[in-house]
Amino acid sequence: MSAFAASRQMLRTIAGHGWRARSSKPAQNVHISKPGAGFSFELTDEQKEFQATARKFALEEIIPVAAQYDKTGEYPLPLIKRAWELGLINSHIPESCGGLGLGSFEACLITEELAYGCTGVQTAIEANSLGQMPVIIAGNEQQQKKYLGRMTEEPMMCAYCVTEPGAGSDVAGIKTKAEKKGDEYVINGQKMWITNGGKANWYFLLARTDPDPKAPASKAFTGFIVEANTPGIQIGRKEMNMGQRCSDTRGIVFEDVRVPKENVLIAEGAGFKIAMGAFDKTRPPVAAGAVGLAKRALDEATKYALERKTFGKPIVEHQAVSFMLAEMAMKVELARMAYQRAAWEVDAGRRNTYYASIAKAFAGDVANQVATDAVQIFGGNGFNTEYPVEKLMRDAKIYQLLDP
Ligand SMILES: Cc1cc2nc3c(=O)[nH]c(=O)nc-3n(C[C@H](O)[C@H](O)[C@H](O)COP(=O)(O)OP(=O)(O)OC[C@H]3O[C@@H](n4cnc5c(N)ncnc54)[C@H](O)[C@@H]3O)c2cc1C
Repeated sequence: MSAFAASRQMLRTIAGHGWRARSSKPAQNVHISKPGAGFSFELTDEQKEFQATARKFALEEIIPVAAQYDKTGEYPLPLIKRAWELGLINSHIPESCGGLGLGSFEACLITEELAYGCTGVQTAIEANSLGQMPVIIAGNEQQQKKYLGRMTEEPMMCAYCVTEPGAGSDVAGIKTKAEKKGDEYVINGQKMWITNGGKANWYFLLARTDPDPKAPASKAFTGFIVEANTPGIQIGRKEMNMGQRCSDTRGIVFEDVRVPKENVLIAEGAGFKIAMGAFDKTRPPVAAGAVGLAKRALDEATKYALERKTFGKPIVEHQAVSFMLAEMAMKVELARMAYQRAAWEVDAGRRNTYYASIAKAFAGDVANQVATDAVQIFGGNGFNTEYPVEKLMRDAKIYQLLDP
């Protein structure tokens, strides 16, 4: 057995000890399994192991190559393969499909650590969860086995195809249409900003099926699973973004793309609720990613402040600098609590829209504030690519722009 296979086996063994949370049986998650036992911030031993594995991977394998991926914009395929082998990707795919079936809380712990290494790499990984989530929450057994199952057999990406050039925040404004013709739907339209767009094996796609402009969003749209190699799909160029540059973001044109009716999620008209429902599950990990970035910025700034001297002493001894570091630490801790609460609610089987929205919005702001403060503490060096914090500042911005 290779070291990779052994690691994956180890994580499967950990997961097999009965502490995992499956969406169908949320009460099995042991960190919430003792109602009335009181509030606890203590992670289980198994959760600590997942965290430690992800942390080790980030420190030893992501950080040494992150700047190079940022510079070239190359897709981090070797890191993604390695994360897959370690069981750090697709962790929430149900056991019935060959996955680990971990809870949202555990997935978020892993995400924070990966993001500490590089949020470009982490976003490429996280986009899989976003693409998979509609199938997890709304797919039938056959769809789940076919599309989630194949992702547990080999490293493979998928994508969430909703945004269009004319509609991002306003999801109900999308124009891509799907027309039923016999046993198929014919899809025409254009999507934009699709993470993993050029790397995905399949897409979750939202399209309008009711042409009546007065039809309510809750009935007008349908969610489809679309194989990426279907004729009529034209994948655009890789976009060069401000940050997270190794993540693959593209526009995609769908021209007379034929999709079998078996690939409709739930039923015609159910798509909007599915697309929005997925956000409740994917916002906690997005917030966890923002926290990982903020923690990295705090650590880099602290280390620098202890080493850099001005006016005869380390800058950390200037109170203005130590106050900044204290504020940064407060923000990191509170943003972490916000994503953990939002994830915990998912695993408790409760609707978490409120907590997920708070976590995502708050952690996104914190990532930007803390990364900007880190650049400030680095002085002129903070503005230079030889130091790690300018990348963090560029990478952070997306957390205030995108949905989820
Ligand atoms: C790197 C990257 C990766 C992405 N990945 C994906 C992906 O994988 N899949 C996918 O489907 N999409 C993806 N997106 C799209 C992303 O979700 C959208 O960019 C986001 O929803 C914002 O939409 P928009 O860009 O059209 O901005 P707009 O909706 O045009 O918003 C422009 C500005 O107006 C503000 N605004 C809009 N409406 C209101 C309002 N009602 N009240 C107040 N202010 C408002 C916004 O906050 C924003 O500041 C990605 C985007 C980027 C940049």
